[in-house]
Amino acid sequence: MWEDEKTRELARNACPPWNTKEIWEYYEWRRALVSRCEPNAAYLTLVEIGSYFDYFWLITQNVDGLHTRAGSKQVLELHGNMWGGRCPRDGAIVDLPQTPLACLPPYHSCGTALRPHVVQFGEALDSATLNAAITTALTASASAELFLVIGTSAVVLPARELSIIALKKGTTVIEVNRKQLGIYDLNLITM
Ligand SMILES: [Zn+2]
Repeated sequence: MWEDEKTRELARNACPPWNTKEIWEYYEWRRALVSRCEPNAAYLTLVEIGSYFDYFWLITQNVDGLHTRAGSKQVLELHGNMWGGRCPRDGAIVDLPQTPLACLPPYHSCGTALRPHVVQFGEALDSATLNAAITTALTASASAELFLVIGTSAVVLPARELSIIALKKGTTVIEVNRKQLGIYDLNLITM
């Protein structure tokens, strides 16, 4: 498919500052797809679970914004959000909720072309978001409650580390995963 080929091409060739028309054409394709989707029962269930607790944070690797659209309130998006752009010059984050965009690439008010507010292939996670996620994992551990790992193969770093932090601190960790092994593969964990 064109889209798959485009993805591979981007993976091979994209480089900083990731604010080209080509990158945005790819993201506009993704944004249009997501705009036609609705959060499924899994998203809505997490909203309901969150309503039972005073302290509930949702840490996700998804970039489609569907958790927020479903109604989850406190969401940490480790890989960013495709409904925003970020200015490579000054770091400003701009909401871009409409698709299609009027101009590709979109521009920041400072005159610099924006990049998608999404972690790109080979790029490090935003340190502030990652630190917030680690703090959340530690806080949950300090109060000895529950850490749920849902719908991930739990092999992607550094997100996997969050569940291991919680596990090592003695928090109850429940993994819901179609695969038999995930973070509970003891080869991955030194207790
Ligand atoms: Zn700017």
